[in-house]
Amino acid sequence: MSFARRIAYLKAEGAYAVLARAQALEAQGREIIHLEIGQPDFDTYPHVALAGIRAIANGRTRYNPPAGLPILRQALAEDAGQRRGVHFAPEQVVVAPGTKPLLLFPMLALLEPGDEVLYPDPGFPTYEAALHLAGAEPVSIPLLEERGFDLDLEAFDARIGPRTRMIILNSPGNPTGGVLSLRTLEHVAEAAGRYDCWILSDEIYSRLVYDDLPGGGDRAFSPSIISLPGMPERTILADGFSKTYAMTGWRLGFGVMPEPLAEKMGLLLTHSVGCTATFTQFAGLEAVLGSQDAVVAVRAEFHRRRDLMVEGLNAIPGVRCPMPRGAFYTFPNIQAFGRSAEWLADYLLEEAGVAVLPGTAFGSQGEGHLRLSYANSFENIQQALERMARALKEIS
Ligand code: PLP
Repeated sequence: MSFARRIAYLKAEGAYAVLARAQALEAQGREIIHLEIGQPDFDTYPHVALAGIRAIANGRTRYNPPAGLPILRQALAEDAGQRRGVHFAPEQVVVAPGTKPLLLFPMLALLEPGDEVLYPDPGFPTYEAALHLAGAEPVSIPLLEERGFDLDLEAFDARIGPRTRMIILNSPGNPTGGVLSLRTLEHVAEAAGRYDCWILSDEIYSRLVYDDLPGGGDRAFSPSIISLPGMPERTILADGFSKTYAMTGWRLGFGVMPEPLAEKMGLLLTHSVGCTATFTQFAGLEAVLGSQDAVVAVRAEFHRRRDLMVEGLNAIPGVRCPMPRGAFYTFPNIQAFGRSAEWLADYLLEEAGVAVLPGTAFGSQGEGHLRLSYANSFENIQQALERMARALKEIS
């Protein structure tokens, strides 16, 4: 069968391949601890789920405007704006079935074939895939482990140029948990102004931050480039409900961008997915306007697990794990074992019954690292660490 060229670059996300192998082992009776997962292990918070159920019972099951329910766009403009200290109009907000469309559609709207786009490596695999779909030229920028997986600004300066049309940022980042420093955001903002390029800022983990970041309780938040002067005019903010509100399967995301671009997003949504499920948006409205206690409690639990995992990993000879400041991933360095990340991830699955992802599932710069998710129980993480320590001793 022959396919269009734009499809040639697409491949499955690494997490799906590892999950399939882990499930095959489970079918043989093996007990596997899943640390390859990219979603919260909590159910959607009850008041949010009930709002969705109520919406279905009340007949909120029909089409709605492509860019989202006006009442949700209004609520998101206020909430997202307040958290970032920027005024957003509801017309700048676009609601979509997940954050993923808010990555692809701005690329389709803004990029011409051959336009260069800078993106982080290691990074979320959808960036490179979506750039190929849009016909753009992906140009990777390494993240530096020694700087908490902040952007390599020397490489950034060397690779940005007149053909650069967009820069993708992701903070806190998948797969590293790194948070971009204010210095980096300012550096990137200045360069974006100089070269007149767009910023696509994926902030889906912005409320899963720990330690010394500004805010606290319900207000804890990672710094956003859109808060810097002049940046709302050239920034597309992509965010969603999947991680903050444990709503991965509901499919609900939103973007904030200049109004003319938001109008084009509405057209792209009209002619692709049509609109986002109406009852899902009512659940989202409750998530934004209702109590934030569950968000705060879940973040505290992730914090506890992060500390357990980082301490446990660093206690294993040969493993070096920097402290991630956000999201729910650790990205330990395993170079000391002298094996590829893929080999080691396979070994841990087969020998220790612990499913993890090789760093290379997120780009070539991920070599020498594994990604472990702490979206699993405290007890399971404890057990996984013991099993990993035993298995890794065998090969050190
Ligand atoms: N961006 C990043 C960095 C992610 O890790 C994910 C999901 O894993 C997404 C976007 C997509 O999220 P959604 O479920 O809202 O489409």
